[in-house]
Amino acid sequence: MSESAVTTAMLVDFDKADPTDRSLLGGKGAGLAHMISMGLDVPPGFTVTTHACREFMRTGEIPEGLWNDVDDAVTRLEGKLGRAFGGGPAPLLVSVRSGAVHSMPGMMDTVLNLGLNSTLVKVVADWAGDERFAYSAYRRFIQMYSNVVLGLEMAPFERALARAKSDAGAGDDTELSTSDLRRLVAEYEGIVRGQGAKLPEDPTEQLRAAITAVFRSWENDRAVVYRRRHGIPDDLGTAANVQMMVFGDLGPTSGTGVCFTRDPSTGERTPYGDYLPQAQGEDVVAGIRDTLTLDDLSSRHPDLHTELLETMTRLEQSTRDMADIEFTIERNKLWILQTRAGKRTAAAAVRIAIDMVDEGLISTEDAVLRVDPAQLEQLERPRLQSRVDVDPVTTGIGASPGAAQGRVTFDPGRAVTMAADGTDVILVSPETTPDDIHGMYAARGILTSRGGKTSHAAVVARGEGKPAVTGASGLLVDEEAATGHIGDLTIHEGDEITIDGTTGSVYLGLLPLIEPRPTPELERLLNWADEIRQIGVRANADTGADAAKARAAGAEGIGLARTEHMFMGERLGIVQRLILADSDRDRSAALRELSTQQIGDFEGLLEAMDGLPVVVRLLDPPLHEFLPDRFELEAEIQQKVLKNKPVADLQHMASRVKEYEEDNPMLGLRGVRLGLVVSELYEMQTKAAVTAVIRRLDAGGDPHLELMIPLVSTVEELRRMRDMIRRVIADSGRDLHIPVGTMIELPRAALTAGEIAGVAEFFSFGTNDLTQMTYGLSRDDAGRFLGMYLKEGILTSDPFETIDVAGVGRLIQLAAKEGREANPALQLGVCGEHGGDPATIAFCRDVGLDYVSCSTPRIHVARLAAAQAEIRRIRQSE
Ligand code: PEP
Ligand code: MG
Repeated sequence: MSESAVTTAMLVDFDKADPTDRSLLGGKGAGLAHMISMGLDVPPGFTVTTHACREFMRTGEIPEGLWNDVDDAVTRLEGKLGRAFGGGPAPLLVSVRSGAVHSMPGMMDTVLNLGLNSTLVKVVADWAGDERFAYSAYRRFIQMYSNVVLGLEMAPFERALARAKSDAGAGDDTELSTSDLRRLVAEYEGIVRGQGAKLPEDPTEQLRAAITAVFRSWENDRAVVYRRRHGIPDDLGTAANVQMMVFGDLGPTSGTGVCFTRDPSTGERTPYGDYLPQAQGEDVVAGIRDTLTLDDLSSRHPDLHTELLETMTRLEQSTRDMADIEFTIERNKLWILQTRAGKRTAAAAVRIAIDMVDEGLISTEDAVLRVDPAQLEQLERPRLQSRVDVDPVTTGIGASPGAAQGRVTFDPGRAVTMAADGTDVILVSPETTPDDIHGMYAARGILTSRGGKTSHAAVVARGEGKPAVTGASGLLVDEEAATGHIGDLTIHEGDEITIDGTTGSVYLGLLPLIEPRPTPELERLLNWADEIRQIGVRANADTGADAAKARAAGAEGIGLARTEHMFMGERLGIVQRLILADSDRDRSAALRELSTQQIGDFEGLLEAMDGLPVVVRLLDPPLHEFLPDRFELEAEIQQKVLKNKPVADLQHMASRVKEYEEDNPMLGLRGVRLGLVVSELYEMQTKAAVTAVIRRLDAGGDPHLELMIPLVSTVEELRRMRDMIRRVIADSGRDLHIPVGTMIELPRAALTAGEIAGVAEFFSFGTNDLTQMTYGLSRDDAGRFLGMYLKEGILTSDPFETIDVAGVGRLIQLAAKEGREANPALQLGVCGEHGGDPATIAFCRDVGLDYVSCSTPRIHVARLAAAQAEIRRIRQSE
């Protein structure tokens, strides 16, 4: 097939598909095609492609000819298998599963056991020689079809199942007898009718409706929320994979499981898996029964266990990545149902990448690309001390490492409201389902009483980097009463607990946590990244201690020290005295005091970053930010008046507050404007910085100070400041070179960058203000409606997090180009919050910036993202 024919195909048989064409087949379809090409035992079937889904979304109609193609594919399948879809004696049942390009576990829909009806259930019973099995499959089919295709309420089905189990005294549904299941099926059929719906008897009709439902599930709320969170475009669509059913619940020699070729929590090179005898795959993921381990599988089916391990090794070798595999054993035959790159924690991602280089499977560049930089922030999270004095109240499986603590809730909706009120929440549940996803996102950690490392809770938690303990079977959750019971102990909503997702331990109360340290594996990976990346990584740090931490994390200097942060805390009183001073003497005294403090601050920064550049930015915010709130002051004055207390000082303060009040302070007397109007402030800061440099030099240090002027909009502002700085340096009597540069954070500065660059030695793009000013959107208030904008698709990403390439990015590009043309030696950096965002870092590299500067916890992220940007650039140009 030609390439264009492939990309627009509506339907492809697994054994004819090109496994590399993920965008057409989706991840699941590509994985199936790949496994078939390897000769693995995969139930045959076909993929209805993402292209068909996109056409369906575009037109609202199933593309012309698709149903004929599906009918033909079913006929081919029947021929291949010697089975009949909708007939006997060997009936063919199929599964219909979603599968998008990017794995979105559990977010979209699946229908299993399709092809059954009230007559065919008997054919299946005869074929299997097992009537119980046939009714069990039919029961599952009715429930899933009713949910996914007919959109019926599930509660009545679940109540009927629970009742049937309790009437039969059955612990789980495997203990229901044939007649129990027959009765249940009849009841289910009644529930469907009772909800005004109809279950089609015709399997072809069922199949068409199921494929349509899978396509529609691309648009369901869960999937939309997941895509927003993971930055997956909305227009990709999903494929629908139609595959012969194999049955893990066909008697005692059958079962089903999920396995990973390496441990998805730690990355250790030991296969990990969950296995459930007499079950279908959904039972494992849903965590509704306690699973067995791969070792248990080995004692039950030693040969199949060996075969599975061999398959795992082959799959890993061929995909050169940790694989997540679903398998089913049907009457002692092993079938592989799907494979994909396994979701893993950041720690596991790093370890697997490093190990695979050592095993000769991948290159160091591949290893650098294998770890999601955003995930690295997980490794900055606190953990429990390795020895804890308190005994856990219960333990389960450490399904996603790290410690989380907070107040318990049993309800995902409550988790969202509690978190919105600023409460740290631990979501506790028997097991989770994709419908709980909002609560899982809101929670700090997740604790379930059922399910293994491959359950929904575990997979989502690992993907999100949230600690999780699953399968804590000592915990009984009563969702209706909103209580959890561990022996005699009752846990209520709001109780504080700590969970350790590394060991699986659960503790009452809030245990002390410790800061993490980078592992040797992470150091190795980041060293590779440093060798590759071309763009520098500096830190935004305001204290010597933070600078030292940043340097230890690999920062190559400070890109922004915000001096206003040095005016807070106990210094606030001095700043207020400065602002309130009525005489030159008082003002000078306050300035002297501040100056002494600033010299110490600057020395601390220069010492921590000895030998590396330190960009100190002169004061930026409006002065009123250092004064108390006027309404609070007036209330205090009233109180004092009532009590006959003296109020003169407070009144003086209130009048000054009023004097400094502005209608729109963000656009008012701040930045360089303040520096020009209250000139002694910037002069004091400059003298303090120069003094700090001299002291460091005299102490044998190697200080590299650079001074930066904020909020410049015209070249003349900067020229005056540069001249002042030159004067101060000259007055020091020392031969110092201190580069002077400016923030580019106003559109006018960007548009006149050529002029400004004639005076500046460096530019640092202040993308927080530049975004605010370009959009005309307050950075402090945008949160009120940005959520709605993102949900409605008015914006596709938050411009305060990821650079708006079309607008703000264009200004940066223009300023960088015209700045460099005017001054080829001009250094360019970015120091807004965007400096730690991987997509922005790639953009910065593309437009030729020299460095990015970000907060200390994001230094690792930035080092890795900068290397990835480089590798992708090189690979794209090849
Ligand atoms: C900016 O505006 O991007 C910046 C770094 O400065 P601040 O956040 O301090 O305004
Ligand atoms: Mg700014």
